[in-house]
Formats: sequence, C-alpha cells, structure tokens
Amino acid sequence: MPELREHPEGPVRLLGFWGSPENQELPNPADLVDPEWEEEERLSVADYLDHGQVAGYWMGSSRCRLCSRLNGSRDFTDGYYLWPEGLSHYILDHGVRLPAEFIDHIERRRNVFDELDRDVTWWRENAART
Ligand SMILES: [Zn+2]
Repeated sequence: MPELREHPEGPVRLLGFWGSPENQELPNPADLVDPEWEEEERLSVADYLDHGQVAGYWMGSSRCRLCSRLNGSRDFTDGYYLWPEGLSHYILDHGVRLPAEFIDHIERRRNVFDELDRDVTWWRENAART
C-alpha cells in the first residue's frame, strides 16, 4: 500500500496565497498565467482544490487579484497543503498554473485512494455501538 503521508512531520504547506502592495514576498498570480496549460489538467486540479476540507474562515471575502470578483472566504486543506477557497477560480478562469510538485502530489493522493485495501470488519462489529 502506498504511503499515506509523505511529510508527516512537516507543517502544512501554503499554496495560492498572493502578494499585495504591503507584502511583496508572495507571488503575483499574473506572473503565473500559462495559457498553454491543458484544460483537462486544469479541470482536474480545480476539482481537487474544490474538494478540500474547510480549515478556517475569514471575516470577509477575498477578491480575485486579476478580475476583482468576490472569491471566497474560507481556507481548504488536504492535510498536506492549505489553500484559499478561490484558488480554483485562478486556474479555471485565468490559467494560473500551479507548481508541478503539487500536480504530482494530487496524482499520488488519488492513487492512494484508488489502491486502498478495504476491510468491513470494524463496521460489522461496531455499527450498533453507541
Ligand atoms: Zn478572477
């Protein structure tokens, strides 16, 4: 069975947080636009991003840095990475490309779930235990 955790000791990695006039240490999404990025992979990555666990709420919605639309007020996580709810919008509507390492991570995570050994014993024995 594949490893469930690839960096169990490490902190969750932030992804898709953008710089601002006050904080220019973070990337600018406009610099990451790749109009050549294949639609199939963009759709797949956006789907993954939209199905994270909610990790937190912000007081207000953020705005897209590229088109100014309201773009979510929550953070999502998969336990390894943490990203703002609106990240999929950057990918689908603006072609902002994420690092290959993250695309590989998504592929590995999906493979883990495809290859899980399944055991119904616990459920049979514990379903009625409350
Ligand atoms: Zn936008």
